[in-house]
Amino acid sequence: MIGTEENPLRVAIVGSGPAGFYTADHILKHEGTHAEVDMFDRLPTPYGLVRFGVAPDHPKIKSVIRVYEKTAARPEFRFFGNVEVGMDVTAEELRDRYHAIVFAYGTSVDRHLGIPGEDLPGSHSATEFVNWYNAHPDFADREFDLSCERVVVIGNGNVAADVARMLALPREELEGTDTADHAIEALAACGVKEILVLGRRGPAQAAFTNPEVRELGEMVDADIDVDPGEMDLDELSRAWLDSDDADPTNRRNVDIFTEFSQREPEGKNKRIVMRFLRSPVEIQGDGRVERIVVAKNELQRDDSGRLRAVDTGERETIDCGLVLRSIGYKGIPIDGIPFDERRGLIHNDGGRVHDGEGEQVPGLYAVGWIKRGPSGVIGTNKKDAHETVAKLFADLESGKVPEAPLADDRGAIEALLSERKPDHVTFEGWQAIDAAEVEAGKPHGRPRIKFCRVHELVEASKATKTAA
Ligand code: FAD
Ligand code: NAP
Repeated sequence: MIGTEENPLRVAIVGSGPAGFYTADHILKHEGTHAEVDMFDRLPTPYGLVRFGVAPDHPKIKSVIRVYEKTAARPEFRFFGNVEVGMDVTAEELRDRYHAIVFAYGTSVDRHLGIPGEDLPGSHSATEFVNWYNAHPDFADREFDLSCERVVVIGNGNVAADVARMLALPREELEGTDTADHAIEALAACGVKEILVLGRRGPAQAAFTNPEVRELGEMVDADIDVDPGEMDLDELSRAWLDSDDADPTNRRNVDIFTEFSQREPEGKNKRIVMRFLRSPVEIQGDGRVERIVVAKNELQRDDSGRLRAVDTGERETIDCGLVLRSIGYKGIPIDGIPFDERRGLIHNDGGRVHDGEGEQVPGLYAVGWIKRGPSGVIGTNKKDAHETVAKLFADLESGKVPEAPLADDRGAIEALLSERKPDHVTFEGWQAIDAAEVEAGKPHGRPRIKFCRVHELVEASKATKTAA
């Protein structure tokens, strides 16, 4: 029987972001089952978007890591960082060694607008920009021309808000954070005067949450600018706000934007300008971004009752030197795992992986953004993990979790990795990296100074081994 002391339930979790850690926690706390969890991440560092997504000026949010550290401290838990599933080890090789695999590898790729000029130098995804300022090793060498006066940010979600704020932070604030060193220099010295945030729908439909909007109006070095004319809402938006379909968040956003629209500029160095009902239709420039053409939209109700942005045919051309699109993410497939190309997610039903036709693939599960799509805050993944783990244990109980030929040997994965990826990073290795980063930050009053390259991270991970 699987799940006993003699034959513990052995689970591989692919991805060490919030979804992966909540899954590990739920599995290891499940009463009456002996379980062991091995977690893999393609990067040498754990915690996914908590390290590489959450904005550096929001350090409190990152304290959720303390919860994950408790999970990692359990003897039944192991971390194998710097191991990319699908590249360094295949999903099939994991299936030989584990009773179940839970895919928690997030949605790392940006969505595209599909408009002319989108690939011009100076047009980037927010993903690239966020990863760059957060010291993601794959993006350390990116360059953003921040010498221009106006940056256009496309999208009205919290990632767009993060990006706008980061562009508006003064050096003194940046220097107190764990922003990558290369980004602190570039951002602090930047010539940007205006950050123009464009929403394709109206202020009532913006996806921002209230604290994130409020913060845009509390910047030390940037005025907020909302056109009062845009707060004169169309009839559909008014009716929608009064209906049960609207969330209190939407209503409060409108109140906050209205207050912003009544402010006089204080003459700060920069301006965050928010404009609504505008969609980019073309990015233009001679060899690089010089301007963006936007369509003026109006709202119409579609068959499903959703208010959609519809092009009125009216155009506006805005000079700018940098365009950052922040319009969401999608996942990428891992070889052999059923994947819904249209949605950019693993085919699954409440976390149980199926073949795309509804037939369950035994032993495979999904959780977090690669299960449900790129939305929701860190805490959303806890409930989500609960659902997936409940499915896994229901399957265990009904005998649907398959035996695996090498699952009785906890050393089988280490044997494979010693061949394939001898420089993999254990949790102890991560703790050495963590200590080195925190130590480096201390003299500068910073929470840490992040290593920006895989080889530096791997080198730092060896410190405990060298000391031992
Ligand atoms: P992720 O956090 O993306 O973790 C996936 C992990 O899988 C990564 O570590 C990745 O390296 C790894 N991986 C990928 N491919 C492979 C592979 N083939 N093999 C092995 N490992 C792999 N929420 C908040 O509550 N507050 C915030 O302030 C906040 N800020 C955010 C800022 C940004 C820019 C973004 C994009 C999101 C933010 N969120 C925030 C949302 C939050 O980060 C997500 O809800 C959460 O991280 C999703 O968790 P996940 O585990 O599904 O994915
Ligand atoms: P999001 O909240 O889904 O916002 C995406 C935005 O892009 C929406 O405004 C959407 O408009 C717009 N958009 C989509 N396609 C577009 C197109 N073709 N043209 C123009 N605009 C387009 O996504 P996100 O900002 O990437 O955030 C992802 C998740 O992480 C969210 O749940 C967010 O709350 C969370 N997060 C939280 C924090 C925090 O708590 N501080 C920080 C960052 C991220 P429509 O509404 O019209 O589709």
